[in-house]
Parts: sequence; C-alpha cells; structure tokens
Amino acid sequence: MAKVYYESDADIGVLRDRKVAIIGYGNQGRAQALNLRDSGVTPLIGVRQDETQARAEEDGFATAGVADAAAQCDVLMILIPDEVMPQVFDESIRPHLNEGDAISFATGYNVAFGLLTPPANVDVVMIAPRMIGQGVRDTYVEGSGFPSFVGVHQDATGNALAVCLAIAQGIGTTRSGALELTFAQEAELDLFTEQGFGPAFGQVLMGSLQTLIDAGYPEEAALIEILLSGEFAYSMEKIREIGFFKQMELHSTTSQYGSMTRGMRFIIPELHDKLAEVLKEIKSGDFAREWTAEQAAGHPMLAQLREMRTMHPIAEWERKTREAFRMDKPED
Ligand code: NDP
Repeated sequence: MAKVYYESDADIGVLRDRKVAIIGYGNQGRAQALNLRDSGVTPLIGVRQDETQARAEEDGFATAGVADAAAQCDVLMILIPDEVMPQVFDESIRPHLNEGDAISFATGYNVAFGLLTPPANVDVVMIAPRMIGQGVRDTYVEGSGFPSFVGVHQDATGNALAVCLAIAQGIGTTRSGALELTFAQEAELDLFTEQGFGPAFGQVLMGSLQTLIDAGYPEEAALIEILLSGEFAYSMEKIREIGFFKQMELHSTTSQYGSMTRGMRFIIPELHDKLAEVLKEIKSGDFAREWTAEQAAGHPMLAQLREMRTMHPIAEWERKTREAFRMDKPED
C-alpha cells in the first residue's frame, strides 16, 4: 500500500523559523504563495522585474530578484517552467545555497532525468500537485484541498521529510492526501499521462467524430453528441466521485448493455503494446534527451506540429457547433 500523508503527519511549524522564498509567480507560484500565506507562512517572491513582480506586489507580497531571494532565504520553492529551470538554477540559485538549505520542486522531471543536480549538502524535496494552479488556490479556499505526490530526493539535514510535509500542509494538499513517490516515479507518471493516456484517448475521440461525420451526421451533431454537450465530461466527473462501475448505473439499461457488449471489441492488445512502448521511452530517458535536443535546436519539430494542428478540421467543426449552440461568451 502506498504511503499517503495527511494533516496529522505534517507540522507547518517547521517553517516558522525558516525564511521561505517562492521562485516564480505563475500558475503554481501564485496559487502556492497565497495558500502558504493563508496558512501562516509568508514567502518572499523571487521574480524578474516585470509585470509578474507587479502582480506579486499587488497581492501584498515582498519581492526580490531570483538570485537575491535565493540569497535571503533558506527554503526555496522553485516554481518556474521546467525548460528554463536548469539554467536559472545554475546561474541564480546554486551560487547562493548554503549547507542545510532546502529546495523544493513541483515535479521530479529535471532532477530525475539528470538535467539539474543539486549540491549534496541541501535537502531536496518534491511537492507535485495533481492540480492546475487555479485549482490549487480554489480548493484551498473551499477547504477541500487537492491530491499531490511528495518525495524526498536528498535528506542532507535529517529533516527533509518534515520540511516537505510542512510545505505540503501549507499549500493545502495534506487535507486530501499527499502520496509518497520518488522523483523519477512522479516524472514518469506525469509524462505517461501526457504521452500515452492523453493522446490515445484523443485518438479515440477524433476517430469517433470522424466515423460519425463520414457516416453523414451533421458535424454539429457529432460534436455535441461526443464532446460539447458536457455529458461525457459529467460522466468522467461521476467516475471520479463514485467510481467507474458505479457511475454506469446512472445510465439507462440500454446504455449499460450496449456499452458492455460492444466494449469487448475495443480490447486491442496493440494498444497496450503502444502504451508500454511510450512508457519505456520515458523511463529510459530517451524522451527527456529528445526534448532537450529539440529545445536546444529552437523547437523546429514543435513548430511544425503546431502548424499541422491548425489544419485539422476539428477547429472548424467546433466553431460551427459553438456558434449554433451559442456557447461562446459574448465579447466584453
Ligand atoms: P509558469 O509557466 O506559470 O511559471 C511562470 C513563472 O516563471 C513566472 O513568474 C515567470 O516569470 C517565471 N519565469 C519564467 N522564465 C523564467 C526565467 N528564465 N527566469 C526567472 N523566472 C522565470 O510555470 P508553472 O507554474 O506552470 O510550473 C511551475 C512548476 O510547477 C513546474 O515545475 C511545473 O512542472 C510544475 N507543475 C505545474 C502545474 C501546472 O498546473 N501548471 C501542475 C503541477 C506541477 P516572468 O513572468 O517574469 O516571465
């Protein structure tokens, strides 16, 4: 059974005599900073001097440049984009780390794939929300919290887990549960969802739309039926709330019979093989190496793929459907 930490396992008091900085004030940075402050620990925000700094100050936080914040504080929550993190870390954070400091990440990616190697004399922890930044804030305010994966990569002081759980409590995730994983496991799971589950699911979605449209159904009807009515999203939410099989009882017996009998046809061994292949590339580090090389080359493949994406007919199908069902909000 995986180890899950809750409120009673954590003590935010561990942070009270530490100086905490949040480096980055974007999706996660802002949400985590607001939550942490509401939990009684006000972080210094390490940002560049631009509109992001202005936003942090409007929210009532003290700010400093990234290097300055790293120099002033001894617990550094690094919440900037993963692509820039190794360079920012080496240039602006590493030179200011002192023995016994703690650094935390919201994903294990850079450390797990060897793109960022922290010095041996600091604690290295992970609190990786399974939630977008806005959700991190909203669920905190509602009082419900959100799930996350947490882990200690390096325990230089003997206190790393306590610091990790204190941050986890401060941002609100121990309210619902923080599951212990290694940095590598977290990064691999995250990438697998993005590269395996997501695209496989996307293909089923696109294939279903195309099948209906090829059979002569109006594009707007296909889009509403499969996706845009919200019925499917509602069923997904019910799966989360009450369980995969239990939610089936919310559907008619015709639906249950049809889906279970025809469902057997979609047990395709090749799908499993493809998913396993994607996971293998992730675990071997092949994907991380490929992505690092793509970034170094200036994203030529990404640009090409984004261009191809704009040519897919779904954009036009969606536009027509949204117009027909008056789904788009009027311009401000
Ligand atoms: P964002 O893209 O929202 O981060 C933006 C922040 O990073 C801004 O403050 C920006 O400053 C700063 N920044 C960008 N480039 C630099 C740079 N070169 N030097 C200094 N600061 C820089 O990131 P996220 O919040 O999405 O992600 C942060 C971490 O959280 C990542 O590790 C990510 O994997 C993880 N995570 C993200 C989730 C999400 O929902 N987005 C979910 C779970 C984990 P400026 O405005 O000045 O450019």
